[in-house]
Amino acid sequence: MKPIVAKFGGSSLADAAQFRKVADIVRADADRRFVVASAPGKRNAADTKVTDLLYRCYELATQGQDAAPALALIRARFAQIMDELSIDFPLDEELGVIAAQLAAAPARDYMASRGEYLNAKLLAAYLGVPFVDAANTVRFSGDGRFIAEGTNEALATALRGVERAVIPGFYGADEAGRIHTFTRGGSDVTGALVARAVNARLYENWTDVSGMLFTDPRIVPNPDTIRHISYRELRELSYMGASVLHEDAVFPARAAGIPINIRNTNRPADAGTMISHDLPPAAAQRPVTGVAGRKGFSTLLVEQSLMNNEIGFGARLLNILAAHGVPFEHCPTGIDTISVVVDTAALDACREAVLRQIELQMHPDHLSVEDGLAMIAVVGHGMGGQRGIAARIFSAVAEAGVNIRMIDQGSSELNIIIGVDEADYEAAVRAICEKLRK
Ligand code: ADP
Ligand code: ASP
Ligand code: MG
Repeated sequence: MKPIVAKFGGSSLADAAQFRKVADIVRADADRRFVVASAPGKRNAADTKVTDLLYRCYELATQGQDAAPALALIRARFAQIMDELSIDFPLDEELGVIAAQLAAAPARDYMASRGEYLNAKLLAAYLGVPFVDAANTVRFSGDGRFIAEGTNEALATALRGVERAVIPGFYGADEAGRIHTFTRGGSDVTGALVARAVNARLYENWTDVSGMLFTDPRIVPNPDTIRHISYRELRELSYMGASVLHEDAVFPARAAGIPINIRNTNRPADAGTMISHDLPPAAAQRPVTGVAGRKGFSTLLVEQSLMNNEIGFGARLLNILAAHGVPFEHCPTGIDTISVVVDTAALDACREAVLRQIELQMHPDHLSVEDGLAMIAVVGHGMGGQRGIAARIFSAVAEAGVNIRMIDQGSSELNIIIGVDEADYEAAVRAICEKLRK
């Protein structure tokens, strides 16, 4: 039987009680041979994730301030788990290495990765399963780019013939052994990489909700659980902000045709969400699968009379953004105007230089930037075959008194995306979900 890879998120491994639940889940199915662990997350709403404490240590150290109190908080998190579960583990020795590294040559990604490293070591000791370090298997280039094929080969080689293993999520290393991390939430990606490398029959992603929900539960109370969803729908929703699964976790699983099952560590009997290529007929026909969104976008608006006659105008604008490393999200155009929606944080890194280059290279009649845009995506395979979905979305938003600042229908008819003011974001999501449910 092919194995199952089980990734447990931060809240699933936040304290000793959660470790016990994880052990019960792992032991309940002998096929759960490969376990990927996150760092301890929040134990309650007011708590701090160990990863955030580690970033704080790095910031303090680089500002010449004392990181010892933050390190002590981290120590207390792991010590509590160790002591309550009577795990024999050289915690102070391991923390000594980390503190020495922090003092000698602070490195941000190395520091951030130590939550996963220590937690996976603890979990491995608790389960009595070997620890396999991601530093030797998950490959990055020296400048921090993830190397997909090299990683797949290294992971497959390291895990060939291995009966069981616990692998830390979130990080890997370059050839020189320097640690690099994925973006936040990246343990989901590691889980998918391990699943691909061991040719798993299933990638289980264990978290604190019983699957992917129709929308963000922090905005709409008790949304329905999506029982089946395609990789493409999931990718759209997670890219747009449905943060339950890291957007890049879809690719390795999809490439290998491995279904992903999102499950709840606190309610292991719930079936959760199944993500695969093929959907059961009812799921394939439903017009809308989910609604997601996020804040933090800006619109660059460029006006130029007779722009439509000038070949390459749009390309030049996008080239300027590309040259500054700013990816574009959407690009709605008019006859004499072109606007580009970008991530505000990405633009902020080079805002003045980008605007100067646009002025210099394009001499527009008008150039402006509007910040404070939120984007909402309504996603579903069945949308293309059903009339009136767009009308219902727009009327819902209008009835909520919200002004739509941008509309984009993806070329695949898999989504409709609207832009609204950040202040209107939650109200618009609520109105859309309410209308679509009727
Ligand atoms: P983990 O630490 O297990 O990786 P995350 O915090 O990364 O868990 O992801 C789970 C959280 O994602 C949920 O607790 C929920 O608040 C949030 N979330 C946002 N949008 C959705 C959605 N559409 N469906 C389910 N959860 C969502
Ligand atoms: N611990 C990391 C984070 O908080 C990675 C993860 O949880 O997936 O982002
Ligand atoms: Mg996560």
